[in-house]
Amino acid sequence: MAGQIFAYITHKVGKADDTAAELVKAAGKFFPDAPVTAVVTGSGADLDAVCNEMTAWYREIWKIDNEALAYPNAEAIRKLLVNLLPQDAVVFCGHDTFGMDLAPGLSIKLDSVFVPDVVDFDGLDGDTLKVIRQEYSGQVSTHVSCDISAGAVINIRPGAFQPDESGSAGGQVVDKSAEAGDLAVGRRFLEIVQAEVGDVDITKEDVLVSVGRGIEDQDNIEIAEELAEAIGAVVSCSRPIVDAKWLEKSRQVGTSGQTVKPKVYLALGISGSFQHLGGLKGNPFIVAVNKNPKAPIFQVADVGVVDDLLDFVPVLTEKIQEGK
Ligand SMILES: Cc1cc2nc3c(=O)[nH]c(=O)nc-3n(C[C@H](O)[C@H](O)[C@H](O)COP(=O)(O)OP(=O)(O)OC[C@H]3O[C@@H](n4cnc5c(N)ncnc54)[C@H](O)[C@@H]3O)c2cc1C
Repeated sequence: MAGQIFAYITHKVGKADDTAAELVKAAGKFFPDAPVTAVVTGSGADLDAVCNEMTAWYREIWKIDNEALAYPNAEAIRKLLVNLLPQDAVVFCGHDTFGMDLAPGLSIKLDSVFVPDVVDFDGLDGDTLKVIRQEYSGQVSTHVSCDISAGAVINIRPGAFQPDESGSAGGQVVDKSAEAGDLAVGRRFLEIVQAEVGDVDITKEDVLVSVGRGIEDQDNIEIAEELAEAIGAVVSCSRPIVDAKWLEKSRQVGTSGQTVKPKVYLALGISGSFQHLGGLKGNPFIVAVNKNPKAPIFQVADVGVVDDLLDFVPVLTEKIQEGK
């Protein structure tokens, strides 16, 4: 039988990341009969606020208040989790930048299996857990079986498990700060560097027209700008567009770019890598235009258009302008 189930909660300025509700949803699907304990680390009022927020989603919340954990230092948090958790724990983390830093080393320290970037559950047979991952930028689904008798660290892809509208767990916060143990580590926190806002702040926009490598040429970005103007949106992009210096870094959506929460997201020529989708929060209505019907973006899109965007988008813009 699997050990006790935990979810590590990431948060910023007193607000839990969206993955917090997704992790309990995933853990509930994997282990429907086992309670899931949230582990929240930090210090002061922000930590208290996040713990309170988590009572809606988790039956038990372990709060660890420590100055060494005031900033997300994966090395210190790894040390804490090794001190605190049972050896055969099953730990769920988000497969985001922080989770990728934290989880592999944690599984080594706990001597348990590590399963990254999980997008779905495929069955549990005794101590054998079956999950679905994606390879080759989402073009191939892989079915993975792993023995979790000695515990596991499972990273869940953000957005893969849609949480319920609201939580009603009525959980209790248990202060475990006294059990933190020695948290001295080599890695030091220096400072938080805020991402540049640029000429527009895409994090505040309700409608984004986002372009990816499928736009093919810098001159074609005009096509997206015309559509954005017609619908009152702003242009954002995937990372290759920034790498090519076609748009500013402040327009990049993704784990190494901006986190956006639009109501509507048009993805033009974007394949749908997890690094890109990781920057897309708040369950927006996604319209994807891509000439490859097997592009992973179609797995998350509400409306999918299989077409060459260079043909489709100018016609769409024209129709919208005519409609006005
Ligand atoms: C550490 C790390 C961090 C990263 N951070 C980010 C990040 O923050 N944001 C980010 O976006 N990426 C990030 N990436 C890169 C990410 O892995 C992908 O490479 C990137 O998202 C792919 O961008 P894309 O979808 O525009 O390009 P591609 O994956 O090349 O997809 C282009 C798509 O366009 C389609 N297409 C081509 N031509 C047309 C056409 N004429 N009409 C319609 N469709 C067409 C293709 O079918 C394809 O699906 C990161 C990678 C790493 C390793």
